[in-house]
Amino acid sequence: MKALCWHGKKDIRYDTVPDPKIEHPRDAIIKMTSCAICGSDLHLFDGFMPGMEKGDVMGHEFMGEVMEVGPENKKLKVGDKVVVPFTICCGECEQCRRGNFSVCETTNRNKDLADKVFGHTTAGLFGYTHLTGGYAGGQAEFVRVPFADVAPVKIPDGLSDEQVLFLGDIFPTGWQAAVACDIQSTDTVAVWGAGPVGQFAIRSAVMLGAKQVIAIDRLPERLSMAKAGGAITINFEEESVIERLQQLTKGKGPEKCIDAVGMESHATHAIDGLYDRAKQAVMLETDRPHVLREMIYVCRPAGILSIPGVYGGFIDKLPMGALMNKGLTVRTGQTHVNRWTDDLLQRIVDGQVDPSFVITHTASLEQGPEMYKTFRDKLDGCIKVVLKP
Ligand code: NAD
Ligand code: ZN
Ligand code: ZN
Repeated sequence: MKALCWHGKKDIRYDTVPDPKIEHPRDAIIKMTSCAICGSDLHLFDGFMPGMEKGDVMGHEFMGEVMEVGPENKKLKVGDKVVVPFTICCGECEQCRRGNFSVCETTNRNKDLADKVFGHTTAGLFGYTHLTGGYAGGQAEFVRVPFADVAPVKIPDGLSDEQVLFLGDIFPTGWQAAVACDIQSTDTVAVWGAGPVGQFAIRSAVMLGAKQVIAIDRLPERLSMAKAGGAITINFEEESVIERLQQLTKGKGPEKCIDAVGMESHATHAIDGLYDRAKQAVMLETDRPHVLREMIYVCRPAGILSIPGVYGGFIDKLPMGALMNKGLTVRTGQTHVNRWTDDLLQRIVDGQVDPSFVITHTASLEQGPEMYKTFRDKLDGCIKVVLKP
């Protein structure tokens, strides 16, 4: 089959790889109808994430048709249309039973690696680092879904791929980021980053009844989309983020702050060499505003910092004194996708939200390598790319 494979920093190729096969009786094989490129894929593309190997199949946002099911899989049947959450979960361990699916204790087949680097195992993820299991991803014609009797979301007839594809990641991610803010009707919610995740965080904060939502980015097309979603916008290249946020909150600061940027705005220390904590290389220095420092500084005391943005290694010089003395709460993590999918699918069916608003580019899988560059460099007004294998 054809697939987009990682070959190193800024090197994604359209390769021929072996077709996946059922390896366990609970597995399923899915034939992709649509997949997408996520901001998290860019961390792999940029080489910020340790634990990638040449030839790894990329992609963790995908959906399609069930082609084959293992004999113990009682949930799926051939022909079902499914969206597959990026977090692989077993449904049975203590964390899954608590709804903490992204820290499932069972599904990461490289538990020892995760344990070494994170102190505990975390769930297996598709198309991501070997720290999270190194499972082949869904930017491909076919994918093997392990534990396929748990996470896949069956899609009712009458909905387009574009309406439901993002249930596997960025819609629940933006939603969880907003829910983590415990939004009150008097709250101002400030969202750093108006990429796809930021866009869903903004719309979720509006749906959850925030008094005021403020979006921060530098790209005019992303700020316009945020405005259409109900946000007031700040262009961080044109004005002071801190001053403007204070002005918009009568000097008090936003009660709730969301980091939908992640490591691209920071001096990020990734772990150079998987197993060696001592060897840390400075992977990136930017002259952009430092999102976490801005959030800690401007957030109203007793407020909440919600961090869906992904970090891969170490971050230096966080103002812990401000964080502590202001009594801020920090909430973060990979999204517990299945905690939210029933509710969000129902909102789509009811017509309350149509996630396809975020798509600016549709291309073939073969055009994937070029689309990575377009999305990475924000060329041609690109906000979200959908690929059709
Ligand atoms: P993206 O790269 O398209 O968007 C990031 C946006 O941040 C860009 O529009 C960029 O201009 C903006 N930005 C950069 N520096 C900034 C700054 N200093 N202040 C304000 N804005 C700034 O990516 P995306 O797809 O929207 O993903 C965003 C983040 O969410 C990534 O880190 C991604 O890995 C993460 N993510 C997390 C989860 C999860 O489960 N927690 C799931 C999906 C994505
Ligand atoms: Zn993602
Ligand atoms: Zn589990």
